[in-house]
Amino acid sequence: MARRTATAPRPDASAPPAGPAGAPADAASRIAAWQRRAGRHGLPWQRTRDPYRIWLSEIMLQQTQAATVVPYYERFLALFPTVVDLADAPQDAVLRAWAGLGYYARARNLHRCAQVLRDEHGGRFPATAAELARLPGIGPSTAAAVAAFAYGERAPILDGNVRRVLARYFAVEGDPAAARTVRRLWEHARALIDAAPAGLDMAAYTQGQMDLGATICTRTRPDCARCPLAPDCQARIRNRQDELPTPRARRAQPLRHCWMLIAECDGRVLLERRPDTGIWGGLWTLPQFEDAAALEAACAGLAAAGTPLALAAIDHVFTHFRLRIQPCWLRLPGAAPTAAGEGRAWAPIGNLDAHGMPAPVARLLAGLYADTPLPR
Ligand code: SF4
Repeated sequence: MARRTATAPRPDASAPPAGPAGAPADAASRIAAWQRRAGRHGLPWQRTRDPYRIWLSEIMLQQTQAATVVPYYERFLALFPTVVDLADAPQDAVLRAWAGLGYYARARNLHRCAQVLRDEHGGRFPATAAELARLPGIGPSTAAAVAAFAYGERAPILDGNVRRVLARYFAVEGDPAAARTVRRLWEHARALIDAAPAGLDMAAYTQGQMDLGATICTRTRPDCARCPLAPDCQARIRNRQDELPTPRARRAQPLRHCWMLIAECDGRVLLERRPDTGIWGGLWTLPQFEDAAALEAACAGLAAAGTPLALAAIDHVFTHFRLRIQPCWLRLPGAAPTAAGEGRAWAPIGNLDAHGMPAPVARLLAGLYADTPLPR
């Protein structure tokens, strides 16, 4: 059912003439002015034109809320103050600093991108969105955000929040993830800038779109009464805020199962490093098995006398599926070997945070060894 917005402004008959592709000539300026007046200003990556800091924040902010990103961003900058410091760091150190933020391909690409910048660009960022978009892990919207914030380029962005704002403002129908819809949204994003005056404050405009999507034009309760786009927003005028963007067809999320072994010996826990590609690529996790029989066979291989103790199962949600983890805890007698083989380590329980681990594994171990400091 469409949401009523009794206090929202009425359609403005004296709105400025539309620019290219139907974009009002003052819409971008309204967003920039609103951002300066009412947008977010205290975030640590604002008020800088350093492309390294802007790029770092933009990658971290993908699929992640600003409040979650802040401590990670500050820790990253303390560990890797420049892009060359990041490039020179071992991948393990980068993944360890990233552990808990999720979507670990972002961290691996971040590291690879820093190395390309060091090796092929003299440690400097290119100054245009087109060149930035050719670097590993930098999509067109991130490239545009870096170019707009760092260099003032009139480059349009289209992250998830901005897609929602533009789909409502221009009443764009269709699955927001479909290529055809995305192409139309990009055209509108470009048109808004093309229609705007030459002196458009690109930093305020770009930040303003992000802030609008995060704080005003939210997914479920758009606050149209406080929105600078309200006078000519097509969704608001037609009372269709709840119908736009077109909801995606919900697909049932499959449930997968796995077993994890917490093999403890002499105050240490056995960890395995994941291959660089795939889920949790490059991170340290507990040995993982597809079924209980494979886990028991592994226990026999560790010369364990006892039977592993099943702990409470935990669920972890990925984008396309849910993973139910059945942890099994096994205490081994004797002293832990100092070397565990390629990609394996007997990690001291008091020093597990020296290994970058996925959040559910870190939480599982933190719960088990509650008196011992563990990763976030
Ligand atoms: S007027 Fe309402 S629906 Fe339209 S962009 Fe603003 S908050 Fe979103």
